Amino acid sequence: MRKKSTPKLRIKNLPRFLTFSAMSLIILVIITMSLFFLMNKMAEAFNTQKQILQTSSANSSDSNAAKTETVTVNNNNQQNTQTETNPQVTDDDPLADIKARLRSGDTAGIKVVFLTFDDGPSENTGALLDVLNEYDAKGTFFTTLHDNDNAKAMYRRIVDEGHTLANHTSSHDYSLYSDPEAFFADVDQLDQFQKSITGQKETSHVFRFPGGSTNSNEACVQGIVNRGFNYSDWNVSSGDGCSDPPPSDVIAQTIIEGCRENDVSVVLCHAELKESSRNAIPIVIETLQDEGYVFLPMEKDYSYPRHLEV
Ligand SMILES: [Zn+2]
Repeated sequence: MRKKSTPKLRIKNLPRFLTFSAMSLIILVIITMSLFFLMNKMAEAFNTQKQILQTSSANSSDSNAAKTETVTVNNNNQQNTQTETNPQVTDDDPLADIKARLRSGDTAGIKVVFLTFDDGPSENTGALLDVLNEYDAKGTFFTTLHDNDNAKAMYRRIVDEGHTLANHTSSHDYSLYSDPEAFFADVDQLDQFQKSITGQKETSHVFRFPGGSTNSNEACVQGIVNRGFNYSDWNVSSGDGCSDPPPSDVIAQTIIEGCRENDVSVVLCHAELKESSRNAIPIVIETLQDEGYVFLPMEKDYSYPRHLEV
């Protein structure tokens, strides 16, 4: 019987075995390194994607914050809660009938645009006033408190050139809404400041809440009405409130199309601060004046679109 021989590693096969082992090891190392590299890349890609998502989410929060002031509502010809004065319709004011209808709230079919400019005066206000003068259009400036020589000159120019110098609080500080008395003091401070600069005995008593009335609360809104102010939000937004506003022609088209939808439009702009919207204003005025629209300064006893009523 043949003895079953146990296989033995024969010496002559040893080099081939070592070569095979070494090759296997190298291949294993390469595969491991490749896997490691691949996983690293995937992790990087994942992190980048995450950052993009976070940035876009932050941007959308920013634009939402900016849009706090750019929400639009339709003008529904709300009745003014202010005491209506008896309008003196005179022959020498071609706009007397329109003004009377703005006071009564019977605005169907009229073509009125209130251009409103928030947050100034700024170093750009002079250029904006020049444009308005060129087209004989009037606007309303919802200013905050800026205590410098240029701003003081602009408060005066706004009044002297027939525009409405309106109140947008001294500080534009949203946190004051939680403390109505502090909020009213902030409003009064600007009122006094405007009077001291312009020499007017009374200010316009036209008011806009920072961020709009819905950014405020009923206590603050009621207090403003009790203090004899009329407040206005807007029904056309220029869209210039965001950090990266669209180009002038896009802003102009947005405003023009918005105004065509209303009998009375209140246009929200921050044109004193943003070049693109400032440059859109001549296009807006020229186009709409050709279509029969008039650009009036706000008055206390007109009715305006409001987002929050009390
Ligand atoms: Zn503002």
